[in-house]
Amino acid sequence: MVYADLHMHSSHSEDSDAGMESMIESSIEKGLKCICFTEHMDMDFPQNEEGLSFEVDTDEYHSHYLECREKYAERIKILFGIEYGLQKHLTKRCSEYVNSYPFDMVIGSSHIVNGKDPYYSMYYEGRSEREAYLEYFESVLENVKLFDDFDIYGHLDYVVRYGPNKDKFYSYSVYSDILDEILINIIKKGKGIEINTGGLFCGRCSDTNPCPDIVKRYKELKGEIITVGADAHKPDAVGYAFDRAENILKEAGFEYYCIFENRRPEFIKLL
Ligand SMILES: [Zn+2]
Ligand SMILES: [Zn+2]
Repeated sequence: MVYADLHMHSSHSEDSDAGMESMIESSIEKGLKCICFTEHMDMDFPQNEEGLSFEVDTDEYHSHYLECREKYAERIKILFGIEYGLQKHLTKRCSEYVNSYPFDMVIGSSHIVNGKDPYYSMYYEGRSEREAYLEYFESVLENVKLFDDFDIYGHLDYVVRYGPNKDKFYSYSVYSDILDEILINIIKKGKGIEINTGGLFCGRCSDTNPCPDIVKRYKELKGEIITVGADAHKPDAVGYAFDRAENILKEAGFEYYCIFENRRPEFIKLL
C-alpha cells in the first residue's frame, strides 16, 4: 500500500476551493499517513479565459500550513510543498523563490509551453498531435536541463490529458527517443518523477501520468526517486487509484517509493 499522497492542492491554489482542513480530514479517513500540499506557483502565467493567476500567496499558505501541521500532528504527517510552473525564462526567479521558504518538496511542472497553454484546444490547432506532443516534450527536456531547483518532475506527459484524442494513440514507444533523454537527464541530476493519478480521477486519461511504460523505463535507466500523488483539488480525490499506482510501481520493479522532507528523499518500503 502507498501511504503518502505527495501532490495536492487546497483553496490556496487558484483552481481549488477546498479548505486545507477538509483535504487533511479526507486523507486521514482514507488511511494515509503522510501528505504534502503542493499549491500552484505559476509565475508569468498567460492571460486565460477564466482570469486565473495561479500565484499562491506563500506567506498566507505557510502560516495556515503551520497551524494545520500542529492541529493534526498526532494523526498525520503533513509536508509543505509547492508545484512550481517551469518556463525557461524563470530559472533565476524559481531559484530565488523556492529558496525563500522552507519547502519540504518542490514539484517542477510544465503547464505552459513556449508561452502557450496545452489545456486549451488552440494549442493543438493547425498541426498534428505528434507535433503538439513533441513540442511539449522538447520543452520538458529543455526545463530539465535548465532548472536545478526542483525535486520531482510533475505529471511528465501531462499534455496527453488535453489533446483532441487524449491518450488514445499515445504510448511511450511513439516518443521513446525524447522521453529517454528526459529520463536520463532527470536521473543524472539526482531528481525524481511522480506517478500522478489526477488524469484518471478527472476521466481524461486511461492511465496515470506518466503512463506505466515510462515508469518502467525510468526504473530500467536506474531511476530510483519516485513519489505518488493524486493531484487532488477536492477532498474526495485524495489518494485516488493508489492501488493502481502501487501495481505500476511493483510491475516496474520498484520496492520503494519516496517522501520528501527538507528537500531530501526518504525511501519507504512498499509492503
Ligand atoms: Zn500540475
Ligand atoms: Zn497539481
